[in-house]
Amino acid sequence: MTQYPALHMIIDGQKISGGGRRSFDVVNPATGEVIGALPLADPADLDRALEVAAKGFRIWRKSTPQERANVLQGAARLMLERADDLARIATQEQGKPFAEAKIELMMNVGLFNFYAGECFRIYGRELVRPDGQRSTVRHEPVGPVAAFAPWNFPLGNPGRKLGAPIAAGCSVILKSAEETPASALGVLQCLLDAGLPKEVAQAVFGVPDEVSTHLLGSPIIRKLSFTGSTVVGKHLARLATENMQRTTMELGGHGPVLVFGDADVDQVLDTAVGGKYRNCGQVCVSPTRFIVQEDVFERFRDGFIERAKAVKVGDGLEQGTQMGPMANPRRPEAIDRLIGNARDKGAKLGTGGERIGNRGFFYQPSVLSEIPLDADIMNEEPFGPIALINPFRDEESMIAEANRLPYGLAAYAWTADAKRQRRLATEIEAGMIGINTHMIGGADAPFGGVKWSGHGSEDGPEGVLACMVTKAVHEA
Ligand code: NAD
Repeated sequence: MTQYPALHMIIDGQKISGGGRRSFDVVNPATGEVIGALPLADPADLDRALEVAAKGFRIWRKSTPQERANVLQGAARLMLERADDLARIATQEQGKPFAEAKIELMMNVGLFNFYAGECFRIYGRELVRPDGQRSTVRHEPVGPVAAFAPWNFPLGNPGRKLGAPIAAGCSVILKSAEETPASALGVLQCLLDAGLPKEVAQAVFGVPDEVSTHLLGSPIIRKLSFTGSTVVGKHLARLATENMQRTTMELGGHGPVLVFGDADVDQVLDTAVGGKYRNCGQVCVSPTRFIVQEDVFERFRDGFIERAKAVKVGDGLEQGTQMGPMANPRRPEAIDRLIGNARDKGAKLGTGGERIGNRGFFYQPSVLSEIPLDADIMNEEPFGPIALINPFRDEESMIAEANRLPYGLAAYAWTADAKRQRRLATEIEAGMIGINTHMIGGADAPFGGVKWSGHGSEDGPEGVLACMVTKAVHEA
């Protein structure tokens, strides 16, 4: 089995550890055992990373599209060569099934290859002017980026945070989650081994608020890219105003799924149940609030419960595991609290609702139904293996429920009625909508939310443009 690697930061291409720095225990969520000691940055480390990032930007902003594409394609090839090792490391530190970790890595490969192409498609425009004069609009890289990635996609989140700035010609300081550092280091190492200049991308770890306050407090950083909870996102957005840094904020969601009476209920269940328990529900676009039309409600709820009971929970490295443990001890605690609160308010527990064993952070695939709208779980992002199923009478009330919360990340709707499909696509407030599908991602598609779910997009051409500024040049 892949040894869990020794941990370090990467500053100016050097592997930094020891030296009396504080450290953080990395834990395997399937066993609860400590598997690594992660060095945490002190202020001098962060100052050095900033200085190097400024130098990295001076180098990389002058790179050609071909140079940037070569690095991204080379890194994609190396990720493929190292796929099994990287996926095993991700499972060891995050818990998800090995097969899911591998799919996540393949998404990085697709994204880096897509971004390699985008390097050649950063166009400007020329404006119509009288003879002898010229006005042009250019896109230029924004500058050094501070990127903060969470633990739920230990390979995919760092891939997104590194890929776009590198394609745009920026430098980047990545602080990935302290719980899942080795996956992030593995992705960065592929870029460095593919020829990325060592000053262009660096990885630091630390006490999250210390790192973000220090980095965003520096005028060297020109952009903040954050994925995580809305509450932390708002805090970081406030910090970023001081130096007027641009922001891409990919925050929480509470994915509504509208299931109409004319939908093929079995087909919805076949995809929705897998979608719900993927990564133990710790997915910002997870299908969460099932808004089901009354005439199919009971069939849908009972079918969901039956399928949830059949989900095989276990160590992500064991063959056949469909759902691993939750990623850290905070998550089962949060889910226990939310389910307890909902039951106190009268919700019905269809299945689950308990931790499994006392080793690691396992939780049963769970279903609640008939949940009062004032229960905490109907208002806070649960981020766990819990489906919430409620009956509604008609399209109007279903759309109202979908739009009730301040979140607007992913939404899903299942209906055979073509006109209704178009109405829903317009009426539902979300950054991404799946109509008769739970697949809403793609390297070429923008990924991001509206309202409290954040702003700006990752992936797609939009992901690269988000790392650029426009400049108008007028020549007499
Ligand atoms: P959290 O909000 O404390 O942390 C979420 C992420 O933000 C972590 O990776 C953390 O390291 C980072 N973070 C926290 N404070 C930070 C700061 N001041 N500066 C920079 N980074 C900071 O909570 P958590 O317990 O890790 O996760 C719980 C909640 O976070 C979930 O309920 C979910 O809502 C949200 N979350 C969202 C995503 C997502 O993909 N949008 C991913 C992970 C967690």
